[in-house]
Amino acid sequence: MHWRSERGGAARIEGESLVTMSYDVIVIGLGVMGVSACRALAKRELRVLGLEQFELCHDRGSSHGRSRVIRKAYFEDPRYVPLLHATYDLWRELETASAETIIHYAGCLNLGPAYHECVQGARQSAEEHGLSYEALSAADVRARWPVLAPNESDIGIYETDAGFVVPERCVRLLADDAIRAGATMHEREPVRGWTAANASATVTTDAATYECKHVVITRGAWLSDEAIARQGKIPLTVERQVQLWFRPPRIERFGIGGVPSFVHFVGDRAYYGIPASSEGLFKTARHHGGEATHPDRIRRVVTDADVADVRDFLKKHIPDADGEPVASEVCMYTNTPDDHFVIDRHPAHENVVIAGGFSGHGFKFGPVVGEIVADLITNNRTNHAIELFSLGRFAR
Ligand SMILES: Cc1cc2nc3c(=O)[nH]c(=O)nc-3n(C[C@H](O)[C@H](O)[C@H](O)COP(=O)(O)OP(=O)(O)OC[C@H]3O[C@@H](n4cnc5c(N)ncnc54)[C@H](O)[C@@H]3O)c2cc1C
Repeated sequence: MHWRSERGGAARIEGESLVTMSYDVIVIGLGVMGVSACRALAKRELRVLGLEQFELCHDRGSSHGRSRVIRKAYFEDPRYVPLLHATYDLWRELETASAETIIHYAGCLNLGPAYHECVQGARQSAEEHGLSYEALSAADVRARWPVLAPNESDIGIYETDAGFVVPERCVRLLADDAIRAGATMHEREPVRGWTAANASATVTTDAATYECKHVVITRGAWLSDEAIARQGKIPLTVERQVQLWFRPPRIERFGIGGVPSFVHFVGDRAYYGIPASSEGLFKTARHHGGEATHPDRIRRVVTDADVADVRDFLKKHIPDADGEPVASEVCMYTNTPDDHFVIDRHPAHENVVIAGGFSGHGFKFGPVVGEIVADLITNNRTNHAIELFSLGRFAR
């Protein structure tokens, strides 16, 4: 357990099994969403405690894996674009505060048949929101990035204001900034339960019972264990996902400039890739298509079958990258039925906010999700458009 900083809150710590301390807000779970919430809340001068069952930046949740695509021509729904503008601004603010590059502008290519709903969706988001993009033929794609081999009938929707971020580094920088703003974070302290009444709540761990005014639940895949999820009021499926890294000869052809970040829609499947950075590893993986699982029972071993699927894709569409992967990691998507997020108040408890169900595309939104959570707690409302993420949609 780490006691990083204590703003307010009466502490009874050493040698006692039961400790009661008081906070304005307790955040349960410190992946990208939890640390972002802590940061936004602490910057509003609230006394914030974040609790994480493992260590910060661990590799058993969803916020790890060396790279995450960041893009604005959002094939999932144009309504995400204003949030993307906001989250880019917040990442850039963190870049300034930390004097570190966060967004690596490799560009992003959505590739697939012109009739594919995701290719059309990317174009629609760009058109509706006046984003700059290029529509490329398969021949244009081959000419610009010779290692890519799209199908003849594919087209590409390409944007330059996109690329990738390094998730472990982002979580660390967000957490450091939260602590600088006064947040307290405890690692290796799993929450065993919480209760909430009108304007107060308690959160219990093996070390303490904490009192607070508000609770934020950002438990990632473990949100599926909350009563509200088990009752079906947040329908969630946790999906196993395998990330693979390759080190093809002349790796510079797979760095920024050699390839963009991309999502390639092939039949009813989608594969994505992220250019090699300083580690010299090119990442490719399948988006969705994994087995349903539980975060405590997930198969962590990567099998030949996991690799064969991605290598089949590489053989056909990036043949120079095909080979034995040099690294692999297992991760989880926490999916809602419509693949849209859940950011809302708990239906039975006004002072409990839930942010989860990020359905495999949440990382880039971390900082703006933190702001929305802080808005809901400090103002009871937010100016960001979050109707898409309401819990009520599942009841309807
Ligand atoms: C393979 C893969 C690729 C992805 N690619 C992209 C991408 O390219 N772009 C993109 O934007 N998004 C991407 N995503 C999605 C994105 O990474 C996730 O949406 C995001 O990381 C979810 O963050 P989170 O904070 O909700 O969950 P997590 O990072 O899992 O954090 C939840 C935390 O809660 C903790 N916790 C749970 N229960 C308790 C408890 N009782 N007590 C204390 N702590 C607890 C967990 O230990 C965990 O640390 C990808 C995801 C995966 C798996």
